[in-house]
Amino acid sequence: MSGGDSTRHGAEPERGVRCSPRWPSAASTVVGVMGDPVRHSLSPLLHNTAFDALGLDWVSVAFEVRPGQAPAALSGGRALQLRGLSVTTPHKEAVAASVDELSPLARRLGSVNCVTFEGGRAVGDSTDGPGFLDGLRRGTGFEPSGRAAMVIGAGGAARAVVLALADAGAGEVVVLNRDRGRAEVAATLAGVAGRVGEPADLARAELVVQASSVGLGDPDALHPLVDPGRLRSGQVVVDLVYHPARTALLRAAAARGAAVANGLGMLVHQAALAVEQWTGQTAPVRAMWEAAEDAAQEDAEDAAG
Ligand code: NAP
Repeated sequence: MSGGDSTRHGAEPERGVRCSPRWPSAASTVVGVMGDPVRHSLSPLLHNTAFDALGLDWVSVAFEVRPGQAPAALSGGRALQLRGLSVTTPHKEAVAASVDELSPLARRLGSVNCVTFEGGRAVGDSTDGPGFLDGLRRGTGFEPSGRAAMVIGAGGAARAVVLALADAGAGEVVVLNRDRGRAEVAATLAGVAGRVGEPADLARAELVVQASSVGLGDPDALHPLVDPGRLRSGQVVVDLVYHPARTALLRAAAARGAAVANGLGMLVHQAALAVEQWTGQTAPVRAMWEAAEDAAQEDAEDAAG
C-alpha cells in the first residue's frame, strides 16, 4: 500500500450512502487510530465512512499500542508510509513529545490527537478542542462568545475544551475537578477567563461540559462534586461520554429542562477535521454522523440485551 488519493468508486456516491465494501489494494492509502484500549474505537468506522463517501481508495484501521510504545509506533508509521494517525488514550502527551513538528494548538496543550505524515515527518495537531466546538455549535446551536461555562474534569479532554472555549471568547471558564491542583492547571489555559470553581457555581453556568471519565460505561454514575439539583432550564449540558448515550447527568439535566448533548458530536467532528487534514478534502460530516448514530444505536440495543 502506498500514498495517493486515487478514486475507488468513480462518481461521488450519494451523500450518506455507504458503498459496497471492497478490499484495500496495494495502492490503498492507510491511516489508523492508535490507543490502548482501542478495539472499541469508532474512529475507523468514521474515517472509512468518510473515505467511502469521498470515493477514495483509503482505509483506516485500529492499532493497539501499549503504553510507552508511542515513539516506536510513530517510527513505524513513518517507515510504513501511513498518511495519518488518530491518537487516543494513553498516548496523546507521549506523541506530542515525539513528533517532528507541532501545530501551535498542540504545543499550547502539550497533547496530540492527530498526526499527519508529510514527506517522512510526523506533524502533530490537536483537533479535540475545535472538534468539540464544531459539535457544540452544530448539535446545540450554543455560541460560547461572552458566555459563562463550567468544565467538569481537568484531564486531557477537559483541558482541550477549556482552551477551545477561551479561544472562542467565553466570558468565564470555571473548572471543577476532584484534584484541585489539576483544576488550577486546566483553568490557567483559559487565561483571565479561567478560574477554579466550587460545586455551587454549577447553577450559574450557561454551558456545562462534563469532561471527566465519570459515567463512562456506567449509566448511573454521577461526578461526586455535581449536585443535579443545581441544573436548570436555559442551560446547555454536554457530556463528552457517549457510551452510554444518556448518562445520569444528561438524564438529570433533561428532566430539569436543560438542553443536552452527548460526546458523539465531538467524536464525529474531531474525526472530520482529521480526515480534512489527511485528504485535503471537505469531510462528509453528515455521513459520518449517521454512521456514529447507527453504531451508538447498535451499542444501546446490545446493552439492552
Ligand atoms: P483523563 O486525562 O484520564 O482525565 C480523567 C478525568 O476524570 C480527570 O479530571 C479525573 O479527575 C476525572 N475522574 C476520573 N474518575 C473520577 C471519579 N471517580 N470521580 C471524579 N473525577 C474522576 O481522561 P480524558 O482523556 O480527559 O477523558 C475524559 C473523558 O472524556 C472520558 O470519558 C473520555 O472517554 C471522554 N472523551 C470523549 C471524547 C469525545 O470525542 N467525545 C474525546 C476525548 C475524551 P482527577 O484529576 O481528580 O483524577
